[in-house]
Amino acid sequence: MRERKYITPVGDEGLYALDTSSWRNVRPVINKDKCNNCGICSTYCPVNSIYKEGKQIEISMEYCKGCGVCANECPKKAIDMINEGGEK
Ligand code: SF4
Ligand code: SF4
Repeated sequence: MRERKYITPVGDEGLYALDTSSWRNVRPVINKDKCNNCGICSTYCPVNSIYKEGKQIEISMEYCKGCGVCANECPKKAIDMINEGGEK
């Protein structure tokens, strides 16, 4: 997995990374049977957590905040939002 660091100009002590993954109650899981790797979801992710590994779309949980935008925008409905506890 490629390393990714994000900074944000919030606060008065300069630029720093926000731990947006700590905001997450649900997480996106790609249904590989439905996904055609079109990449549309990656253009909507506000924290740039969706990337291609070879030809396959993957989602990094490092900064994913569980907003569900990717699932909402996927034309194939190939992303399920799963409770962090493990149930849908
Ligand atoms: S938008 Fe949907 S079908 Fe396209 S790459 Fe993302 S998960 Fe797969
Ligand atoms: S749930 Fe939100 S933050 Fe996480 S990958 Fe999808 S669009 Fe990005």
